[in-house]
Amino acid sequence: MKAPIGIYGGTFDPIHYGHLRPCLELCESLKLDHVRFIPAFLPPHRDNPATEVVHRLEMVKKAIDSEASFVLDEREIQRGGPSYMVDTLKSLRQDFADNPLCLLMGMDAFSGIESWSHWQELLDYAHIIVTQRPDTDFHALDLWSDSLNQFYQKYKLQNNNTSAQNIHNSLHGVIQLESVTQLSISATDIRKRLKNRQSIRFLTPEPVIKLIECYNLYQ
Ligand code: ATP
Repeated sequence: MKAPIGIYGGTFDPIHYGHLRPCLELCESLKLDHVRFIPAFLPPHRDNPATEVVHRLEMVKKAIDSEASFVLDEREIQRGGPSYMVDTLKSLRQDFADNPLCLLMGMDAFSGIESWSHWQELLDYAHIIVTQRPDTDFHALDLWSDSLNQFYQKYKLQNNNTSAQNIHNSLHGVIQLESVTQLSISATDIRKRLKNRQSIRFLTPEPVIKLIECYNLYQ
């Protein structure tokens, strides 16, 4: 079996270090071949993005440009319509038949996964790797619905293998919680600061800030 690939979807409105750093840490700890950043064209379970897709795309491109293990994947934008992750995973599975796929997401996203289209099928195509995020309790499993708890209990890492071993041994089907450095950064906060004409330095890479200034985004 080939090396696992990380799949990281998001609105990226804008992309920031709270996305980039956890992905790099997961890439190292899980020994991923690379991480594919997949900007959503139309996120189905939230408000439409504040920013046009070309700008969100360009910001992701600039943000990951200097990291060889990060790859931009434009398939949701090319597909158009609502960006259902299950469709994205199906198409990735066709392109990467022999690589385990690891869908990376924060705990906030996992807690709301039941609203995703065909959510229970996601594990037919990929593993799900959940990272904690500031302000979302990693172990607040009792806050989840019964069905999400059952889903987690059924598919969580069941044996004594390490995380990396586990996802290298199967193409899909495991849910795993992983620790990453906690960065209390969100796109919502960045947009708010820009509206209030506050600096966003050190929250996102400098080339992203340059683009935001150049196109006068989030004013
Ligand atoms: P917004 O504030 O607009 O909701 P966001 O900052 O949460 O945006 P998204 O593009 O919606 O970013 O999130 C994409 C993925 O990144 C999700 O899985 C989310 O859990 C994760 N994520 C975002 N910010 C962080 C962070 N600071 N730490 C860990 N994970 C994060």
